[in-house]
Amino acid sequence: MHTALTQKSIDLYDRYVMKTYPKADILFTRGAGCRLWDGDGREYLDFAAGIAVCSLGHCHPAVTRAIAEQAGTLVHVSNLYMNQRQPELAEKLIRNGFDGVCFFCNSGAEANEGLIKLARKWGSAHGGKYEIIAMADSFHGRTLATLAATGRSKYRKGFEPDTLGFQHVPFNDLEAARNAITEKTAAILLEPVQGEGGIIPATQEYLEGVRKLCDEKGILLLFDEVQCGMGRTGTLFAWQGYGVQPDALSLAKALGNGYPIAALVAQRKLENVLTPGTHASTFGGTPLACAAACAVIDTLTQGGVLENCRRQGAYLMKRLLELKEKYACVRDVRGKGLMLGVVLDFPATELLGLLREKGFLALSAGETVLRLVPPLIITKEDCDQAVSCIDAALAEYTKK
Ligand SMILES: *Cc1c(COP(=O)(O)O)cnc(C)c1O
Repeated sequence: MHTALTQKSIDLYDRYVMKTYPKADILFTRGAGCRLWDGDGREYLDFAAGIAVCSLGHCHPAVTRAIAEQAGTLVHVSNLYMNQRQPELAEKLIRNGFDGVCFFCNSGAEANEGLIKLARKWGSAHGGKYEIIAMADSFHGRTLATLAATGRSKYRKGFEPDTLGFQHVPFNDLEAARNAITEKTAAILLEPVQGEGGIIPATQEYLEGVRKLCDEKGILLLFDEVQCGMGRTGTLFAWQGYGVQPDALSLAKALGNGYPIAALVAQRKLENVLTPGTHASTFGGTPLACAAACAVIDTLTQGGVLENCRRQGAYLMKRLLELKEKYACVRDVRGKGLMLGVVLDFPATELLGLLREKGFLALSAGETVLRLVPPLIITKEDCDQAVSCIDAALAEYTKK
């Protein structure tokens, strides 16, 4: 039973909010660290983190303080003028990664649109190249160009005709990528660890091979780090875990810990591709958004958070592998850092409801993968609680 206030919100949703998401029937009113509370006062352990967004946990004090202070100082002026926070954020992203330049925008799809435009603009000056090779089972966003880049046709259904200039090859298959390259190819686009497609990490040999291939052919290598970036896999950028640099990458989800901000980061050699007037975003890089992201990067890089991500990730992986031993329906456990997937032999969505009843929030990915993307500040005890919830849910499911 819901309280009257929760029921009122549900009724308003039903009547006034467009139904692009499946009905949720759960409403949260408060969050702190790795925990959320619903409108009826129930507590949940949150291993969904707003879809890999709240990587420092809910309402992290350093981020909340930065937002509050900046909101009382200066919120928005547009990119017709400078503000203090935007170059500060750009410098932090560059100092902790590779030398280059940043463009700020508001969502993962928008950052990927920027990557695609960067590749096409670069390609137009390099022999009229425009085609982008993307991966099967990839996910790059819901705008028309990023949908065309996305490697699962179900998202495109009903929105045809597809934007031209994209083709898909199997992930982790270097020969397929090599065979797909033509004189029109401008770039290869991939997620170093595929998220929505089912938590599939690139192999070390593959990523090194793709880098070499792009250099050989004189084309760009683009990484979509919207989900796997910002510390999620145990290094600030996912490419750092492989030691393989892209020519440009996109960031979004965890960059503002919930405050919307996204970025496109390009190597120095590409700094003059998108020239004045060729690309823009009204809300991109506001002082408010950049203040939030600056606090996120400082906390991620100075507070032992990345180390905790690696440590708890290894521990959680080990505990999840125990479940693989125990249940035949658990086929595999895979991932990197705290981006982990439990591969099941049934639709993962069927487990989510059972987990929620036990006060545990997780996600699905692909069709049969239970996706765990908790805040990077989780403790060993949180991992143990998560595993016992999953254990109990699997026991219940297999008995049915
Ligand atoms: C979530 C996601 C996107 C899309 O981000 P939005 O902010 O929803 O537009 C793009 N790429 C990857 C890898 C993602 O996980």
